[in-house]
Amino acid sequence: MPAYAIRIFGDPVLRQCASEVTDIDGGVVRLASDMIETMYQAPGVGLAAPQVGIEKRLFVYDVGDGLGPKTIVNPVITEARGEWEFEEGCLSVPGLHWNIVRPREVHLAGIDLDGNDVSIEADEYLARVFQHELDHLDGVLLIERLDPDTRKQALRTIRTRVLAGAGLVTPVERPAGQAGTSGPEDAPL
Ligand SMILES: [Zn+2]
Repeated sequence: MPAYAIRIFGDPVLRQCASEVTDIDGGVVRLASDMIETMYQAPGVGLAAPQVGIEKRLFVYDVGDGLGPKTIVNPVITEARGEWEFEEGCLSVPGLHWNIVRPREVHLAGIDLDGNDVSIEADEYLARVFQHELDHLDGVLLIERLDPDTRKQALRTIRTRVLAGAGLVTPVERPAGQAGTSGPEDAPL
């Protein structure tokens, strides 16, 4: 199956709280595989099911650590510690990035596609990916993690772009000096 279209800011599915996966059947395995393809094609380093219009609690990621793509079903963050600021982007709010403070370390629990328990201690970048994707499963977008003033400004930027007819799908040029340096940590989630 071809890759999915990624749902963009304004799509109500991005505001829904997704439901637990009760049975990891062939459909869920196929969904994960199609989501991985969609994520690579975007390109991004993480993608949650609601971002492709499916209200199920799972996400895929590949942070470029050589371990390949991973799928986490019914993820839960059981512990969070510290604070870390990172410039975060989202495939559903393309072309925009904000510095967002979130916990530096998290412990993630969930299950993999074989139904085995997964328990991962993550810090910094990986911890950020987990928190961002988990937010998607709860219908929360990164804009809601901004302080009220920055959030107002962000919504204004988004609105201006949509009104200008540019939409949100046009990738924005990164500021000079950042071109050509895009690694996995530049990629949206
Ligand atoms: Zn996102």
